[in-house]
Amino acid sequence: MSRDETDTFDVDLFVIGGGSGGVRAARIAAGHGATVRLAEEYRVGGTCVIRGCVPKKLMVYAGRFADEFEDAAGFGWQVAPPQFDWATLRARRDAEVTRLESIYDTNLMRAGVEVIADRAVIEDPHTVRLVRSGERVRARTILVAVGAHPVKEPLIPGAELAITSNEVFELESLPARILVVGGGYIAVEFAGIFAALGSRTTLLHRGDRLLRGFDGEIRQALGEAYAKRMDLRLGTTVHRLDRRGGAIAATLHDGSVIEVDQVLVATGRRPNVAGLGLERVGIALDAAGAVPVDRFSQTAVPSIYAVGDVTNRAALTPIAIREGHAFADTVFGGRPWAVDHALIPTAVFSTPEIGVVGHGEEVARRLCGEIDVYEARFRPMKATLSGRDERVLMKIVVERASDRVVGVHVLGHDAGEIIQAVGIAVTMGATKADFDRTIAVHPTASEELVTMR
Ligand code: NDP
Repeated sequence: MSRDETDTFDVDLFVIGGGSGGVRAARIAAGHGATVRLAEEYRVGGTCVIRGCVPKKLMVYAGRFADEFEDAAGFGWQVAPPQFDWATLRARRDAEVTRLESIYDTNLMRAGVEVIADRAVIEDPHTVRLVRSGERVRARTILVAVGAHPVKEPLIPGAELAITSNEVFELESLPARILVVGGGYIAVEFAGIFAALGSRTTLLHRGDRLLRGFDGEIRQALGEAYAKRMDLRLGTTVHRLDRRGGAIAATLHDGSVIEVDQVLVATGRRPNVAGLGLERVGIALDAAGAVPVDRFSQTAVPSIYAVGDVTNRAALTPIAIREGHAFADTVFGGRPWAVDHALIPTAVFSTPEIGVVGHGEEVARRLCGEIDVYEARFRPMKATLSGRDERVLMKIVVERASDRVVGVHVLGHDAGEIIQAVGIAVTMGATKADFDRTIAVHPTASEELVTMR
């Protein structure tokens, strides 16, 4: 008989971290009859609810009114010059986050999960220690769902003057001038938000195009759209930051200086593994500092699993949720299943928005051999009257041999909403012929996806 079977445990499952992955795992495991405790050192809901997707999207909505007010004139509206009040947005956004946090708390409680407001660290393969209370809990299974944190890279002189996406939600006022550093999801989304809300925004990225990993034409088109909305500087880096009166002077690598009121650094995120005790139990981190797991989210220590950003498989909320769910069904529900990370629909809430499922043209050429690319660039109907200088880009990438659609890319209004629906078809293995036989919904932008020939 193994030690596992003879041991007595306080709980079946101890979850470290109350974010998207941990909460889902805890609730599903409890639903399967497991006794579950969950420790969260900050606020239940994790990055997505507290300082990520949710408050960010509310700010995206706030910013987009600026375009709406402008566009309304072309449709006969006369709108008094709009005024934006940061304090109102902040208070209402934070109240919504608090409301969601309490829903998460209630849902955990209703599921029978005991939530502990403390930091937990791993002592041995079956023991966690609560840092503040000093209590030790013996668990048959431990789930590490501690997420990740933003990093400032490289650590330049004066880096402490910059904020990250954590502090951006705490700003007391809308910065009149802001420098955003980075070219990934977070930099692109926040640069878009601040530019729309009225900050003089500079987006600075070391690469020659934003959003590495996305389809090349989508990256190009976003860059062109952003260059009209803000001061976009590509192929450059910040060398140092200095306090200059109430402002911050950012010296670029070419010696030029930009003076701003805030600097937001969004140069990536790293797993929250420091001091967690992983080394103590023999879990070695991978090159990215993440916890290596197998397809069932099991670590090298059989009683310890990990889901979400700490595993760095795909740092997206719906993936963490799915991984947490699969883990709970596998370990406590007698129904093993693994998350398929191959086909992930995703959106970037830039303005214009981006929605993507599957491969970009470049990757598809590499992986699928012969491909066909269908593309539509057009002025959205609304722009005909608003006069806004904007274009929508839609692309379908098809594997020639099978006629299977292996990538759909949308840049334009509601791209995220469009791609969620298209994602079902692509996940089901739809062919270009399936797209072609789908009747168009007219007049919409997404009808282009079924009329491209
Ligand atoms: P990303 O890894 O997406 O992007 C990091 C950016 O910082 C890249 O443009 C990178 O440039 C740049 N960078 C990295 N190191 C340096 C450096 N030393 N000097 C200068 N630039 C540097 O990270 P984010 O922080 O934007 O987001 C983290 C993750 O969060 C995302 O990958 C995504 O999974 C998730 N997320 C998802 C959202 C959504 O679904 N809408 C929204 C927000 C976040 P380069 O390209 O050259 O490497």
